[in-house]
Amino acid sequence: MATETSTPDGQTIDFAGLAEKFEEERVKRLRPDANAQYQELGDSALEIDRDPNADPNFQRAPITEEVDVLIIGGGFSGLMTAGRLREKGVADIRIVETGADFGGTWYWNRYPGLQCDAESYVYLPMVEEIGVIPSEKYVKGPEIFTHCQGLAKYYDLYPATLFQTAVTDAQWREDRKRWIVRTSRGDQIAARFVVSGTGFYGSPKLPRIPGMEKFEGHCFHTSRWDYAYTGGTPRGAMTGLKDKVVGIIGTGATAVQVVPHLAESAKHLFVFQRTPSSVAPRDNKPTDPEWAKSLKPDWARERRERYTTFLADLGRFSHEVLLKDGWLEDLPAEGGADDASGAFNTIRLMKEIHDRIDSIVTDKKTAEALKPYYHYFCKRPTFSDDYYPTFNRPDVTLVDTHGKGVEAITAKGLVVDGVEYPLDCLIYSTGFDFLADYARESGITVTGRDGLSLEDYWKEGPRTWFGMMTHNFPNFLFMRLPQTSISFNFVHTADEKARHAAYIISACLQRGGVAVEPSREAESWWIDEVVAKSGPGLAFAAICTPAFYNFEGDESANLTLNGLYGGSSRSYIDQLEAWQQDGTMAGLEMTS
Ligand code: NDP
Repeated sequence: MATETSTPDGQTIDFAGLAEKFEEERVKRLRPDANAQYQELGDSALEIDRDPNADPNFQRAPITEEVDVLIIGGGFSGLMTAGRLREKGVADIRIVETGADFGGTWYWNRYPGLQCDAESYVYLPMVEEIGVIPSEKYVKGPEIFTHCQGLAKYYDLYPATLFQTAVTDAQWREDRKRWIVRTSRGDQIAARFVVSGTGFYGSPKLPRIPGMEKFEGHCFHTSRWDYAYTGGTPRGAMTGLKDKVVGIIGTGATAVQVVPHLAESAKHLFVFQRTPSSVAPRDNKPTDPEWAKSLKPDWARERRERYTTFLADLGRFSHEVLLKDGWLEDLPAEGGADDASGAFNTIRLMKEIHDRIDSIVTDKKTAEALKPYYHYFCKRPTFSDDYYPTFNRPDVTLVDTHGKGVEAITAKGLVVDGVEYPLDCLIYSTGFDFLADYARESGITVTGRDGLSLEDYWKEGPRTWFGMMTHNFPNFLFMRLPQTSISFNFVHTADEKARHAAYIISACLQRGGVAVEPSREAESWWIDEVVAKSGPGLAFAAICTPAFYNFEGDESANLTLNGLYGGSSRSYIDQLEAWQQDGTMAGLEMTS
């Protein structure tokens, strides 16, 4: 029976009724194929896995060389690791990157409306190092891409990088104490150390929808935006769409940014929704030049530290905090997600989103369809001042699939509830293979000591020390998410991991080491720590509607080992720092 409760701000909310409805909606979305409902872009018959920003005719001769450090990936992780290594005097670095430039996520994603979702003063790394002040509180994608290029220039990384090249495999040669790394262009690189920064959004995915290969219109994925077809730029004004009927599948964080721009440009836009996002206010503003002038040296590090510390202890969170942004303002006021007060708040926050929708969207049926019925944070919260008003336009139609997804695709368009929606252009805003296994996410086969494959060693789930190194795979460092912690500003943890990697590599080189790896005991200690801290996260995942966070509700997935470390990012970072301060390389076995 519904229970009404008054909140401290005087609202009356039917908590029990909403919790019941959340559970109904969760169950409605469970599917036996879980993650298998998706395929990687490159595996689909659509042949849309092209890089629209690279020269398709690029050629070069293969190289054979030996380096101290090989970094896989030129996104934030790769850039920061290279920068931190250079700061420690490690000069002999080779970077291998699949794109035609640096940037990673911010190279591939150039869709209209692309914008930073965490405050850019804490999100953009190394701003003080290269003397940059972000132009807005939430900067746009092109500024972040330019920032990545600026970091690469500052640390002189362009000459060290092989672009449009994918690492295919890495094999440890115990006799030489080197990794032999091979690439898609026939290179063979012997490296003392390998750092894998292949990123989280490297594998765009597509749903498997019956008939999708029959579609005769134009189609692409948001991370491969086809401006040659749409016209315009990441700022919008896509003149190529003015006489086109456009459909977009997906309403996640990407779609929330794209949809207002598509609506502006297309003749008509159909938004195909399976589960609505929560969309809170964006409230962006340009950086105040007076404030920028007032910043003292070390401001960026201090601000970032403060942000992470506030997030570490949600119980202490206050709306009066000096440092505010959409994430902080939307955090639960108290309690963890696993207890009653946490559930209370994740319902209250969602009720606020419902009220926001009612105050903006005029058509009642559309407003109801846009309301998310799940606990806040079950899916990635999003922020926009333009998304909900877009649904008041006469040239925009929301097609709600009531949690079922698009039924079929025909030569002409999409089918939902037996109704065909003819389209000229279909855009897949269907996300990325997130927290997938290493081989799948990176496309790299890794073979450690005695021919042991990483896939075999991690058969029951990853086994790592701090999520970064693994026994039997000396001198190989991962910049992945599983078994590490992130705050809403993932770049902070990524930078700390980059510093950690740079510390381990430079210490090993300085101390005359040739190989370093975690002991079996150190690895087990971290696994135990990961398991011990997994309770609240697992409990929350279990009450959440299917999403990539909980492996689409797949109970057989090893969410404990494949998921994030359940301690706070503050505690994770503090542990890394304390380990470095200790200076004894505790837990690592070094061969001299
Ligand atoms: P998501 O995985 O979040 O969204 C995919 C969307 O496709 C969902 O709405 C999903 O519905 C829908 N979908 C999947 N299959 C079907 C189907 N068969 N029929 C209809 N709909 C379907 O991908 P995004 O690209 O939006 O975001 C991925 C991540 O990228 C974010 O979580 C965020 O971490 C990051 N990001 C960051 C940004 C930033 O910081 N500025 C901006 C944008 C993205 P359902 O929910 O039901 O599964």
